[in-house]
Amino acid sequence: MDVEEFRRAAHDLVDWVADYRARVAELPVRAAVAPGEVAGALPKSPPEGPGDLKDFIAVLDEVVVPGLTHTQHPANFAWFPSNAALASVLGDIVAGGLGALGLSWQAAPALTEVEQVVCDWARQLCGLSARWSGTIGDGASTASLVALLVARERATGGSLRRGGLQGEPAPLTVYFSEDAHSSVTKAALLAGYGEGNLRLVTVRRPRRELDVDALAQLMAQDLAEGRRPAAIVTTAGTTLTTAFDPIGDICQLARDHGAYVHVDAAMAGSAMLLPECRHLFEGVEEVDSLCWNPHKWLGSVLETSLLYVKDPASLVSVMASDPSYLRSGRDGSVVQYRDWGLPLGRRFRALRLWALLSLEGAAALRARLRRDLANAQRLAALVSSTTGWELLAPVPLQTLCVRHVPAPLGAEDLDRHTLAWCEAVNSSGAAHLTPALLDGHWMVRVSIGAEPTEWRHIEQLWDLMREKAEGTGT
Ligand code: PLP
Repeated sequence: MDVEEFRRAAHDLVDWVADYRARVAELPVRAAVAPGEVAGALPKSPPEGPGDLKDFIAVLDEVVVPGLTHTQHPANFAWFPSNAALASVLGDIVAGGLGALGLSWQAAPALTEVEQVVCDWARQLCGLSARWSGTIGDGASTASLVALLVARERATGGSLRRGGLQGEPAPLTVYFSEDAHSSVTKAALLAGYGEGNLRLVTVRRPRRELDVDALAQLMAQDLAEGRRPAAIVTTAGTTLTTAFDPIGDICQLARDHGAYVHVDAAMAGSAMLLPECRHLFEGVEEVDSLCWNPHKWLGSVLETSLLYVKDPASLVSVMASDPSYLRSGRDGSVVQYRDWGLPLGRRFRALRLWALLSLEGAAALRARLRRDLANAQRLAALVSSTTGWELLAPVPLQTLCVRHVPAPLGAEDLDRHTLAWCEAVNSSGAAHLTPALLDGHWMVRVSIGAEPTEWRHIEQLWDLMREKAEGTGT
């Protein structure tokens, strides 16, 4: 494809994307395809000759779009928001078009320095002090892994340059709440701590924040039995209920034990943009690292995950590499982001967030987040004032945990009823919700915050939930 062919095709494709966004509200939210249906509709082998853009677009329309659950749909209330605001999409197009290769500062100085600047913009918007430096990665799972690798090396004084964890005299222990995201367990396992050294700390009901007294007891017991408390992963905005662990109290305990503290604020980090929500993050200045994903609620295209640290040298000491072919006369005076994370070749992710912040401005983003918070409170008021409906957890942000309880019903029947009405909502195509287990029983999460979702969409959802739950029976 030459430049002029690209120009024409890109115009057509941008029109196609704009049309998709314009009509997404008319599509069924949840993908209705059977496993293998998408693959079966595609050619089995690659073409020898050049294809036609019209055919490519036809496949998008006929195979790809029906094969998606539409996260940009105004009636998408599933999981957490995964907004790809169009301003950010523009940044993504530029990143792909530039095709820059971030191997080192010298390989793409602008890639590094735009990332530095945009991380600093986001830091300021979050009200974090200038002590923090950020980098952009693919997701909160990777950030937890990086944090736990750094914690491991800090606790062992650099075991990877000796015998690794296998050469350590005392096992290292890691602590996180029983409601922490599954990616935290995965990160701790991959970082080599070993399943027997992970401590899932109980949460305090009904708010479901990590119980600091239980944490203190576990840490003291581990110490007494010859283990080394190495790291605590706190969650700001758990996936299940958006509960906030008490970061300040946790940091105090961590200091007593010399343990590393990482905050996983994957979804809720966007709320730091709102001064009225900062109290939820009280103590965050004291932690060692913090991750949040502007690609969730805020609207940067997926794989824009911010990892902030106060001591970048702690990242470099664990992840630096210095092959001869990447050296330049600038080394030593510039940031080499490859040494702050796992990948060597980095794409120009910062453009997505830069485009979002520069083209929309912070005021518009804050207004949208506040709209969602207000809508969540309005729906919470409706749910809790309606007979037969329960709100199962506080609503500090934009996610509600609900159950419909047609009395009288045993626990198993109630589970069946919950799954049945949620599935009836989802299979209708008119809205999408997530069922999840809370203390062993099913409830339904309503996660508000898709970019186009206005109050009228939530009213429609509430009518649908009532229709399906009250008409489903058991
Ligand atoms: N942590 C929390 C609290 C989450 O809610 C999620 C995903 O929703 C993750 C981690 C995983 O994030 P990622 O998909 O960016 O790895």
